[in-house]
Amino acid sequence: MKDSYEIAVVHGDGIGPEICAVSIEVLKAALGPDLLCFAEYPAGASHFLKTGESLPEETRHACAQADAILHGAAGLPGVVHPDGTEVGVDFSLRTRFELDLFANIRPIRLYEGVESALSRAKPGSIDYVIVRENSEGLYAARGAGSLLRGDVAVDTLVQTRAGIERIVHKAFRLAQASNGAPEDGVRRVTCCDKANVLRSYAFFRSVFDEVAQNYPDIETEYAIVDAMSMYMVLRPEHYNVIVTENMFGDILSDLAAATIGGLGMAPSGEVGEENGLFQPSHGSAPDIAGKGIANPYGMVLSAASMLDWLADRHSDPRLSQAAERIRQVSVGALAGGCLNSDLGGSASTTEVARQLCDSLAEPA
Ligand code: ATP
Repeated sequence: MKDSYEIAVVHGDGIGPEICAVSIEVLKAALGPDLLCFAEYPAGASHFLKTGESLPEETRHACAQADAILHGAAGLPGVVHPDGTEVGVDFSLRTRFELDLFANIRPIRLYEGVESALSRAKPGSIDYVIVRENSEGLYAARGAGSLLRGDVAVDTLVQTRAGIERIVHKAFRLAQASNGAPEDGVRRVTCCDKANVLRSYAFFRSVFDEVAQNYPDIETEYAIVDAMSMYMVLRPEHYNVIVTENMFGDILSDLAAATIGGLGMAPSGEVGEENGLFQPSHGSAPDIAGKGIANPYGMVLSAASMLDWLADRHSDPRLSQAAERIRQVSVGALAGGCLNSDLGGSASTTEVARQLCDSLAEPA
């Protein structure tokens, strides 16, 4: 347990600063002003436009040293490197690789008060976690692919035994700690891959099988990623924990978010052995930036995940209690109809913040 925790805040671009501000307000309302010390650092596309740098050295250093990193979102359309890739993703991708944030944990839960794109889905019937490998896969090629004579482009998909083992262990441990799938209460890990076509995914599956031997209490199954995208729509209640490669996890996360109200509802945490970065699943949504309508729930729930992660690392129950409280007031606000326009409501970003902070001020 520490007297205080240093949180490096990287607001980013688009709606990033708006939702980041809400999460800080909520964290302070839950924990008081002193336990978390927030220090802001620049990174992203807007900073690049101003300075020619997307990720300053000071930000890299501060993020590496901090107890945790809180990030809004980064990226602006058209702000790209000469090779056409987006400048805004430099922060997230470089930080992931440099700090070895190998596990991207993305809880997918349909809350009361939120309408799913799936007409049959009821609150509580969708409750699973996507465990996305975050340091290998196709995105490991970021910045290192090749373009040959303007005719042939190549990016390499990387899967290592050590990388697969650690992410699969993570998935099984999460399943062990869970209540199982909503459909039947069975604790199960689904290995999502493309083992029928590519050797690298067949390898992923074979290492998954080896690791699974250590967890006889957990049911296992496989799903090919294309079929998986169908099952997530037709039978989401079946899933408990899904473990998958980096790019597949990225894509499936957006599909999953659509089933629980949209991107604004999807929290995310990227963790390694020593560091953790918490930002919502969505990007900077430049189309709605500055309008005061961004949905901050995904960001706030990501901040709650940050508290859980810190609580675990530092054996600090104050943080896990605050995380639980933030989740409770978020659930209450959603059920009570405090919804942004993406959820069919009319609440502004700051109205949601006020509702959450007011509820946190009331006795638990
Ligand atoms: P990235 O690839 O960086 O994740 P993206 O291309 O998936 O970004 P996003 O910025 O994540 O795009 O969002 C897509 C659309 O979803 C936005 O344009 C916006 O309309 C909506 N959206 C995303 N996040 C939110 C939010 N928090 N509140 C309301 N709408 C959102």
